[in-house]
Amino acid sequence: MKPVDAQVIVIGAGLSGLATAQQLNAVGFETIVLEARSRIGGRVHSHTLPDGTVIDLGGQMIGPKQTRINKLAKAAGATLLPLSTQGKSIKEPNTSLSLLDRFHVAKLGLRLHKEAKKTPIDTPWTRADAAALDTMSSAQWMSSKGTAPAALVWTDLANQSFCIESNKISALEALHHFASMGGLPGLITAETNYIEQGAGIMVDYLAQNINVMSGMAVHSIKTSNECVSVNTKQKTLYANQVVLAVPPQIGQRLLQARDAQEIGYINQSITGSVVKTVLVYTTPWWKTKKYSGMSTSNIGPASSTYDATPKAAPFGRLMVTSTNEHARALPIDEPTRIQRITDHIDRLFKNDTEKPVYAKSVHWNHEPESLGGFSSVRVPGSWMQQAKRSANSKGPIHFTGTEFAHEWRSYMEGALESAERTTKQVLQSLKT
Ligand SMILES: Cc1cc2nc3c(=O)[nH]c(=O)nc-3n(C[C@H](O)[C@H](O)[C@H](O)COP(=O)(O)OP(=O)(O)OC[C@H]3O[C@@H](n4cnc5c(N)ncnc54)[C@H](O)[C@@H]3O)c2cc1C
Repeated sequence: MKPVDAQVIVIGAGLSGLATAQQLNAVGFETIVLEARSRIGGRVHSHTLPDGTVIDLGGQMIGPKQTRINKLAKAAGATLLPLSTQGKSIKEPNTSLSLLDRFHVAKLGLRLHKEAKKTPIDTPWTRADAAALDTMSSAQWMSSKGTAPAALVWTDLANQSFCIESNKISALEALHHFASMGGLPGLITAETNYIEQGAGIMVDYLAQNINVMSGMAVHSIKTSNECVSVNTKQKTLYANQVVLAVPPQIGQRLLQARDAQEIGYINQSITGSVVKTVLVYTTPWWKTKKYSGMSTSNIGPASSTYDATPKAAPFGRLMVTSTNEHARALPIDEPTRIQRITDHIDRLFKNDTEKPVYAKSVHWNHEPESLGGFSSVRVPGSWMQQAKRSANSKGPIHFTGTEFAHEWRSYMEGALESAERTTKQVLQSLKT
């Protein structure tokens, strides 16, 4: 037998990879985590400012129904804070719905909830009408079930939630996402709190006592009868089992074609377009103008803004997200991008005096290790076309990550839920 470097090699030090490695280490299995970037955390990306405060440029918000991430946050010593919502919010364009339209919006929401409840989170393709749902797009489904104004409201919401236009996503896929968060109660509470110390505190907590090798981009994986070889530019490492904790399209590239075909999901998925920008000011000046700092815009370049200023903090902080065409239209150059976002804020909140003292922005579409955000989703037809729809392993190769979650897909919670199932699977494989 060939000597191995570790019983298990995990590729990717995002939440799912680190949680898998931590759980395997806890039961005595030697694990190495290989990470392409020089930092760990993946789509969780906390950044410390010169004044010592921490901002989140990736995953940030958590909801009370997300049990695993709340438990992890508590274990890591995190302080949960609510977003500040007091004051006037801005909607651009400022259209309002009639009472009847609002009734229809609520009715379509309840229909969505009912349909989500009918969608099994581990086997969505077993719904009697799965094939029909998978053939149509999420936008088509909304239009067929609600009035035009109601369909528009829910389509807009879905576009923002996925960072992908709803006409590109399978209706079965959208319902599965909705089902995975428990329907309406999950949706309403998903973004309740953020972590004062930054979400990275959870990443650092998981990475304690784990052998993480950063700056080691894996370019291919090969299986043999003896072991799995994991190839990086620097060296080849050998293991009994390998966990790919990378976005699915990246994982697909690393595998030999015959292995990729056996794994469900990884074909025919697309990743959303998102830019996240954080602006820090000396004061939350929008409050003196009676604004909450919350806004949504269909004009852009910012799609939504929130006030993420901790209570009694000696500064003001705006969290700005640009999605879909707004994100794609933003330049790669960070200072130019920040200027465009700052101009948007000034226009919306009628500001011509205050300037940000710190600003950071990440264009996730230009991050080759992520390919965009919040996550990858399936295009119409993809659930029903794949023979192994939810398989995430082939022999000693296993996939994990938020894309493989049954609960809270696309969320940080989903990354942890998927890691739990993958760990069990790897332990089972090691036994046989
Ligand atoms: C802007 C943005 C905002 C978000 N906001 C929220 C939010 O508020 N709440 C929420 O719950 N979720 C949010 N999310 C989603 C959340 O961040 C993700 O669901 C979660 O972090 C995914 O974790 P993961 O482990 O599945 O994947 P990742 O975090 O993507 O981990 C994959 C890892 O693999 C590494 N990698 C890639 N290629 C290779 C290679 N070839 N070799 C070695 N390593 C490789 C990557 O560098 C990365 O570290 C947001 C995401 C983004 C982008």
